[in-house]
This record gives sequence, structure tokens and C-alpha cells, in this order.
Amino acid sequence: MNVYERLGVRPVVNAVGTQTRLGGTIMCPEAVEAMVEASRADVAIEDLQAAASRVIARHTGAEAGLVTSGAFAALALGTGACITGLDVARMNRMPRHAYEAGCEVVICRHHRNSYDKAFEVPGARLVEVGLLDRALGVGVREVEPEEIEAALTPRTVAVAYVAMEGVGPPLAEVVAVARRRGVPVVVDAANQVPPMRNLRRFIAEGADLVAMSGGKAFRGPQSTGFLCGRRDLVAAALLQQLDMDVAPAAWTPPPGLVPGPLAGVPRHGFGRGFKVGKEEIAAAVVALETFVAREPEYQQEWAERCRGVVRGVAGLPGVEAVYLDQETTGRVPLVELTFVPRSRARQIAEALRRGQPAVHLSERRAEEGRLIFNPVGLDHGQEKDVVEALRRILGGEASGIGRTGR
Ligand SMILES: *Cc1c(COP(=O)(O)O)cnc(C)c1O
Repeated sequence: MNVYERLGVRPVVNAVGTQTRLGGTIMCPEAVEAMVEASRADVAIEDLQAAASRVIARHTGAEAGLVTSGAFAALALGTGACITGLDVARMNRMPRHAYEAGCEVVICRHHRNSYDKAFEVPGARLVEVGLLDRALGVGVREVEPEEIEAALTPRTVAVAYVAMEGVGPPLAEVVAVARRRGVPVVVDAANQVPPMRNLRRFIAEGADLVAMSGGKAFRGPQSTGFLCGRRDLVAAALLQQLDMDVAPAAWTPPPGLVPGPLAGVPRHGFGRGFKVGKEEIAAAVVALETFVAREPEYQQEWAERCRGVVRGVAGLPGVEAVYLDQETTGRVPLVELTFVPRSRARQIAEALRRGQPAVHLSERRAEEGRLIFNPVGLDHGQEKDVVEALRRILGGEASGIGRTGR
């Protein structure tokens, strides 16, 4: 019996993608091993973060990096860093300093999403620019750099940018405008790798800070993320995340990460609730290194799982499976399952969710009669559970079994 069975919790097959709500993804074995190893000895967290910084910097091209408790936490800590810089007095007054100073974070209106409250966690307020006219099909214009510039005031502490393939304005243009006014740009790139080139891309395009999830395709612990970028900002984020229950005489800033002498030793910061344990830091770093070394193999495994689903459902009545390879999606391979009639997609999804094990497919396009199989959150062989469940439902339907008792 595994731990979930002992606790009486129903197992889930997460073919939605790296859905946090369903456990995210299955950690890579290297990260699990690192976690167990790290759990057996103690270490100064700032020393471990300084080491993590070197690894993250090497792989992202940034000056420095930090393991956070997720991309959300990375955005919150990063925005906090933009508010305080390395000013210890300000750090100690967070988040009140941000309310009192009326700190603002500028964001394109069409970048608004339910993760963006991360930018407001340290006490700043989001200020929207641009129109949503393309949602109505009446507009053709992108948010223009001048519109962003016009929104920058002395209260602006950062420009928030949500990176998404095919969604503008181009980061480099936003950076150019913000730089002119000395305002840092913080990028939400939580789910932008793969493709691998995105690991370095946003830093290369001039972002001051970039936030990524550790528990999505990197296959690190669910409760991890990375913040990378300018050394002074990463240091300010770290200082507000670390436990600071330390006598000033006993504390030295992590070498190579916190630049220059500080005017005192900060107290617990607003990010104290976003603490990360040694096990998670170690595992996140190992997951990142493993991902960089083995991404092509991951892609192959994901592709095999997809092909297994396509083969497995071939010939089933009422469903057509189309395999979309990595080149087509630009990210990871997927399988599109189209049901006839269209209204069946939602019913099938619900029947899958109610099964044992509960099988979850992406229902993002259910209105079009489509469910999407995403292989990234699965363990080896779990695609067979998906096929079996579909066979049970659709096969049973064909023979009339699925209809009894309705
Ligand atoms: C997943 C996601 C987040 C949150 O990432 P966590 O690592 O779960 O905190 C933020 N923004 C976007 C766009 C995401 O997809």
C-alpha cells in the first residue's frame, strides 16, 4: 500500500498537464534522490541558496538566481525586491512601506490573469494599460510602448510582463521603454520551458527578473520555482525570503550573492511565508540540471506516451485521436481527442474524472468537442490507465453497457 492508499485518498492520473491542483508532475528520480540526501543533513540555507544561484545563473544566463516556493512566490519576492532594493530599513517596513509609498506595478491589460495578484502581494497595486479590443474582434493594434511609458510614474516600481508564445508586445520593446525610465521589468515565465531556448531567452531580451516554476516541466518539487536576474534584485528577494532569526554578530551575507555591505541585518521579511527547505532547494537545482541534460529524452518519453494513447484508442467508436508532435505545438507533444457528437466531450471527461483511478484530461477545448491528453504530468505507463479508462467508457457505450443505470 502506498501512502495515498494508507490515507484513503483516491489516486489521480493527471493527463491535463502540470496541473498544480492535481499534484503537478511526477518528480524526476534525480530530484527525489537529492531530496532524500538533503533531508539527512543540515546546512545554512543562505549557503545553499548561494550555490543554487550559481547553477541557476549558469543555465539562464542571469547574474544570479534563487529557489523560491513556486513561480508565484518568485513574482511576489521579485516585486518586493523592486520595491525595496537593498534598503534594509525599507525591507523591515514591508509591506507597509509599499502601501504608504503607493507603489505601482504597470501591466498590459491583456496580460492580466489570476496569478497576477503575486505582484500585489508585497503591497503594490497593479495599474493596467492598453485595451482589450481584440477580445471583441474589433482591434488590430498591440499595446504600444508609448502607452506603457505614459503609465510610468515616480510610484512605478516595476513593469509586469507575462510571457506567452504569440502574445505581445515584444519583451524587448517593453524593456527599452522601462529602461529609459529606470524601471525594472519582471517576467512571469512560469510555464514557458520547453522550448529549451526560453530558459535563457527572457534574460537575453533584457528582463530584470524572470520567474519560472520548478514543478512544471522541470519535474522538480511542486513547491519550488526559480527567480533569476539582476544580482542586486535577487539578493533583495533572498533577504526577504530567508529566516532572519539571527544575532547580527552571527550573520554574514551569503558570499557572492549579496553585493556590498548592508546598512544592518534585515529582520524577517514579507517573504518569510515563502520559505523553501533545504530538501526542496537541493531537489529543484538537481531537477533543473537534469532537465537541461535530458530534455530531448523527456520529449521522447512524452511522445511515446502520446503515441500509446493514439494506438490505444484507434478503432473506438465516437472518438478520433490526432497526435500533435513537439514541432507542431512548439512545446510538448499532445494528443487531441475529438468526440462526436461534440457534447460528448464534457460527459466523457466527467466519466473519466469519476473513475477509479480518476483520469483527468484537459477540458480547455471541451466546447469544441475536444479533450487534450498532455503527457507531461504522468509517470511511465500511466498513459495505459488513460487508454483503459477510455476503452471502458467508449467500448461499454458501444455495447450498451455504459448506458445502463442512467
Ligand atoms: C503555473 C503558473 C504560475 C504559478 O506557478 P507556481 O510555480 O505554481 O507558483 C504563474 N503564472 C503562470 C502563467 C503559470 O502558468
